[in-house]
Amino acid sequence: MSKNTIKILGAYGGKAANMQLTSLQLSKHIVLDAGNILGGLGNGIKHINHIFVTHSHLDHINDIPFLIDSTFTDRTIPLKIYGRKKTLENLHKYILNGNIWPDFTEINLINSDLKAIELIEIKINETIKINDYKIKAIKNNHTDSSNGYVIEKNDRAVLFTSDTYCCDEIWQETNSNKKIKVIISDVSFPSRMSKLAFDSKHLTPQLLKNELKKLNRRDVTIYANHIKPTYKTEVFSEIIKFDILLNGGTILEAQDIIEF
Ligand SMILES: [Zn+2]
Ligand SMILES: [Zn+2]
Repeated sequence: MSKNTIKILGAYGGKAANMQLTSLQLSKHIVLDAGNILGGLGNGIKHINHIFVTHSHLDHINDIPFLIDSTFTDRTIPLKIYGRKKTLENLHKYILNGNIWPDFTEINLINSDLKAIELIEIKINETIKINDYKIKAIKNNHTDSSNGYVIEKNDRAVLFTSDTYCCDEIWQETNSNKKIKVIISDVSFPSRMSKLAFDSKHLTPQLLKNELKKLNRRDVTIYANHIKPTYKTEVFSEIIKFDILLNGGTILEAQDIIEF
């Protein structure tokens, strides 16, 4: 059976020249987080019908308003956005509120009774099936309504931590679910900034090194994601120094393809 793939549309925790915000394309119709959907997909945006959001921080939702705006007139079915209850409430209350952007959850598609955007709650440990994909929300440690996802297809899976600080459940999930072959982990700040990492609930190379002690498997590939552009050079060299990208993992960049 051919390998499953995920395409990285953006892999940074901030915006800078040639550095795009977090977004992953699972299939022609499904993306995870909305940091860089339009720039990453070009004409492919017209096929996106499902967005799984990990939390409501701006770097993970910022393309949702522009995506619905750009695809509205051609759309025949709603854009479905999945996330935890408060994530969806924040998106609705603070972005799609008629002031910052039109409330597309209340706007009908042209020639349709269906709304342009449908918000669908997902709970921790709940799985949503779309075609060949099973997408499960898992606990992480970032905001009060954040989550990671395990994306499974053909009995193989990727765990996306999204933004997270230290979190036992991520490693317990990986230890118990042998279908997981790949982890895409937050590595945002240099190790010397451990206080900021704790306060903002992100990992550093040193913290991820410590977290990996909770992993009792050695067959999982680890990729790094969500580096803050300001600290790119320092974090890159630390990731190499701490040797945390197991089994051929890399520091992710837009347009990379992950196989699993
Ligand atoms: Zn982020
Ligand atoms: Zn965040």
